[in-house]
Amino acid sequence: MREEQREKMTLTMESHSRNEAFARAVVAAFAARLDPTLEEMEDIRTAVSEAVTNAVVHGYRERAGEIRLEAEIEGRTLRLAVQDWGVGIPDVEKAMEPLYTTCPQGERSGMGFSFMEAFMDRLQVASAPGEGTRVEMEKRIAGAGYGEG
Ligand code: ATP
Ligand code: MG
Repeated sequence: MREEQREKMTLTMESHSRNEAFARAVVAAFAARLDPTLEEMEDIRTAVSEAVTNAVVHGYRERAGEIRLEAEIEGRTLRLAVQDWGVGIPDVEKAMEPLYTTCPQGERSGMGFSFMEAFMDRLQVASAPGEGTRVEMEKRIAGAGYGEG
């Protein structure tokens, strides 16, 4: 794999829950170019799912809207961005705390951001009420064949 390699893709999709699996599959196919280990692939898939689910469930509250997914490979680094133009987050720092959720009586556990943080190397959330949310993540992929002769 050439270190200077840089590739980008962008996908816009509707805020429908079936697009959680779709976004996961698209990112997995894109990330496959880095030949990630199974564990790295699972980490990436989980992080994307959590971000897209948040956009569908919280950002748009199950209503219609657009979600934008950006993915970029630079060298052995995978960068992802998931953006919505939904309700936004009033207090990002608080929202990112483990177990914090605005849907406590539902099936939400408040662990989405914690998983993104744990499974990726970097997580950055920009949000404003009424404007939407942009979640940026980054992970360096060692890769399955990395370091082998
Ligand atoms: P879980 O992900 O475990 O099902 P959760 O979605 O509530 O539960 P997080 O993903 O950590 O937990 O998100 C924490 C809180 O941040 C959410 O409850 C919600 O209030 C807010 N939030 C997250 N993403 C968005 C978004 N895209 N738009 C608006 N609010 C969001
Ligand atoms: Mg969540």
